Amino acid sequence: MATTRVLIVEDEPDIAELVKFHCEREGLDAQTVPSGRLALDMVRKDPPELVILDLMLPDVGGLDVCRRMKQWPETKDVSVVMVTAKGEESDVVAGLEIGADDYVVKPFSPKILMARVKAVLRRAVELPPQEGSDRYSRLEGALVVDNDRHVVIVHGKQVDLTVTEYGILNHLAQRPGFVRTRDQIIAAVHGRNVVLSSRTIDVHVTALRKKLGDLAGCVETVRGIGYRFAESLVAAE
Ligand code: CA
Repeated sequence: MATTRVLIVEDEPDIAELVKFHCEREGLDAQTVPSGRLALDMVRKDPPELVILDLMLPDVGGLDVCRRMKQWPETKDVSVVMVTAKGEESDVVAGLEIGADDYVVKPFSPKILMARVKAVLRRAVELPPQEGSDRYSRLEGALVVDNDRHVVIVHGKQVDLTVTEYGILNHLAQRPGFVRTRDQIIAAVHGRNVVLSSRTIDVHVTALRKKLGDLAGCVETVRGIGYRFAESLVAAE
């Protein structure tokens, strides 16, 4: 199997080297580049599997790098993990909405960054069912979503959800582990005779969790950003 290639876009040399070291320890082929403009040249010429993208860069900012990558056919499928400054939730939301896969917040522990990188690479390989697929299960079968009949089954028992609750759960469960912003969820759920606003989404999620019983924790709140379907459920504390 060919080595997985990662491009680290980072203008601070110490951080770039540290990240490169940890990538290589995981067996990844890592290169570093200190500017957004150079990064765009490199990804277009020779797309890697994944880009670790600092958002604060001296020339072309990380969000613009991501936006352009998602527009070009040769780079649109490259995974992106953003590195953002603390307190910049709006950047995270913007990045996710233009197609970044995940993010870490500076200062980050290399261990957490590598966990995110590996999770994104793994998800890129094991593609979850696409929107509209008939029936799929999550959490080792504890949850089944049946799109044909529009029902959700928890531990073998059908659960009555409203159209909105069903839509939110189905959208999140399509891609476990991926954070979805409120606007992404609203856009996905909207139009199925549902009017959902960012003001009411929390209320629907609360109701949804209640109906999921001991699987409630699978709908995770990501503070300031949105929601995510858990990749696995840790035992309740
Ligand atoms: Ca920077």
